[in-house]
Amino acid sequence: MTVTLAIVGRPNVGKSTLFNRLVGRRAALVDDAPGVTRDWREGNARLGDLEFRVLDTAGVEEGEAESLVERMRAETERLVQRVDGAIFVIDARAGVTPFDREFARWLRRRGIATVLVVNKAEGDAGQAGVLDAYSLGLGDPIPVSAEHDEGMSDLYDALRPLVDAAQAPEPPPEPESEEARPLQLAVIGRPNVGKSTLINRLIGEERLLTGPEAGITRDAIAIEWRWHGQRVRLIDTAGMRRRAKVEERLEQLSVADALRAIRFAEVVVLVLDAQQMLERQDLAIARLVEEEGRALVLAVNKWDLIEDKEAARRKLRERIEESLPQLHGITAVMLSAKTGRGIERLMPAVLSTDEAWNRRIPTPALNRWLAAAQVQHPPPLVKGRRLRIRYMTQANVRPPTFALFASKPSELPDSYRRYLVNLLRADFDLPGVPIRMMLRGGKNPYAEKKD
Ligand code: GDP
Repeated sequence: MTVTLAIVGRPNVGKSTLFNRLVGRRAALVDDAPGVTRDWREGNARLGDLEFRVLDTAGVEEGEAESLVERMRAETERLVQRVDGAIFVIDARAGVTPFDREFARWLRRRGIATVLVVNKAEGDAGQAGVLDAYSLGLGDPIPVSAEHDEGMSDLYDALRPLVDAAQAPEPPPEPESEEARPLQLAVIGRPNVGKSTLINRLIGEERLLTGPEAGITRDAIAIEWRWHGQRVRLIDTAGMRRRAKVEERLEQLSVADALRAIRFAEVVVLVLDAQQMLERQDLAIARLVEEEGRALVLAVNKWDLIEDKEAARRKLRERIEESLPQLHGITAVMLSAKTGRGIERLMPAVLSTDEAWNRRIPTPALNRWLAAAQVQHPPPLVKGRRLRIRYMTQANVRPPTFALFASKPSELPDSYRRYLVNLLRADFDLPGVPIRMMLRGGKNPYAEKKD
C-alpha cells in the first residue's frame, strides 16, 4: 500500500516548493483533468529509497488568523480521510505564528501523525525559528531549505518511521476521543505484596474482565472500570504470577513480563510491602519504569501491620534518596488493601501523576526559570570561560522532554544537568515523572549535520 502524506501549513511557507522538491519532474504526471476543480495537487514523491504519495494543500489565501485556522482545519479534515499523516511546514524566518501554534494543537488533538518541517532554515537567519518550533510539541523540528535542497536527509530520517508505520499490515487503532480514552494503568510488584487484594479492593464488583490483551503478555489480564467517570484500563500482572504458579515456575515476575506491562502502561503503581520496602526487586522495577519513561506512584501496602509509622515513613524516604535519587519527591500512598484504609488516596495520586506526565510548560516560563536557575547556581567554568545555556523549550510530553541549547553541550558536566532536572521537578511540581533533557549545541543546532 502506498502511503499518502499531506503537506499542510500557512500560505507562503514554501509548501509548493517542498512538493516540487519531493515530486520533482514526476509532477508532470499529475493530471489536472480540465473541468475538474481540485484544490490540491497530488504526486508521487521520492526521497532516497522512500516512496510515497503527497498532496499539496491548496493554500487558502491569507486572512484573519482565526478564520484561516478554521479553513485549514476544514481542508485538512477533509484530506485526513485519505492521508496517513501530515508534513506540517512552518517558516523559519517568520518564526512560530499564533496560527502555527493553533494548528499544531489541533493536529496533536486530532492524533494525526505529523512531521514538523521548518522551511527556509538556510543560513543563520532561520535559527530562532528552528528553536522556537520545539515549543509546538510535535517532536524535533526538521530544518530544511526546500529551495536550496538542504536538510533532506533529516527529513528522510523523520519520514521513514511514519512511512513504515503506515505500511505496517496492522491498521492503527481507532483514535479515541480525549474523554473516552482510558487511562492505562499497570499494578506491579513482587509476589505477595498484595496486588490482587488491592485490585479487588479498588475495583470491587465493577470488575469487567476484557480477557488477555494482545501485546502485553499472554497471561496479563486487562480490566476496564470507571473511577469517578474516568475510564481506566488496568493491567493486572498478578494474573501472570497465578499462571506461573500453575506451571510451577519460580514465583517471580520476570523482567520481560514486567517490562511489557510497563510499556503498555501510562502510569505504573508499584506495590510495596511496608514490612520490606524497596528491596532489590522493587528497586529494579522502579528503575525500569524510569528508563521506560513512564509515570510512577508507590503504593505502600500492609500499612496496618506497621507500628511505628513515623519511622517507616522516614525509612522509605531515606531508601528513595539513596537508591532512587532520580525519583526524588515521588508520591507514596500508605494504605492497607486488606482493611481498605488509605485506599481512597491512590487513584487521585495516579491521576495527578498522569497529569504531570502529560504537562506542557510554556517556553517563556521555562526560559525565565532557566535564567534564574543559572543565577542561583552558575554552570562551571571551562578553560576560563563560563558555559552558558542559552535557551530551553519542551520538545515533548509523556514523559516531559526538554531541549537545552548550550554553547558547548559536551562540556556541561552531568552533575549540572542533574541539578537542572531536580530543580525543574521541584519548581514545576513533577513528582514521579521521569524528566528527559537533551543538550543541543552549536550556534545553529543543525549546522554540523551535512546532507
Ligand atoms: P499478590 O501476590 O501481590 O497479588 O498478593 P495477594 O493480594 O495475593 O496478597 C498476599 C497476602 O497478603 C495475602 O495473604 C493477603 O491477605 C495479604 N495482604 C494483602 N494486603 C494486605 C494488607 O493491606 N494488610 C495485611 N495485613 N495483609 C495484606
